[in-house]
Amino acid sequence: MQIYCPLCEYNPVPADLWACMPGCGTLWHTFDTHGRCPGCQKQWRETNCPACARWSPHEDWYHDETPLEEQEEGVAAEELAGVS
Ligand SMILES: [Zn+2]
Ligand SMILES: [Zn+2]
Repeated sequence: MQIYCPLCEYNPVPADLWACMPGCGTLWHTFDTHGRCPGCQKQWRETNCPACARWSPHEDWYHDETPLEEQEEGVAAEELAGVS
């Protein structure tokens, strides 16, 4: 699982903080809580990017990695055979 902005591919660091605004004003790292404000429990459906300042659905920030071996297994086996 990788977390990055779906628009600019910015990878959030632990030092990034989001403000619950409009809301209770709490500052927190939104990916620690899957977008839920720890101050007032508001569930934020969209997340603002610290890098490009645009809004995207929170779920779109989570990206599953596709295992390389599924695509390139045949090629890898051929290369290994050639070396040995
Ligand atoms: Zn809040
Ligand atoms: Zn961005």
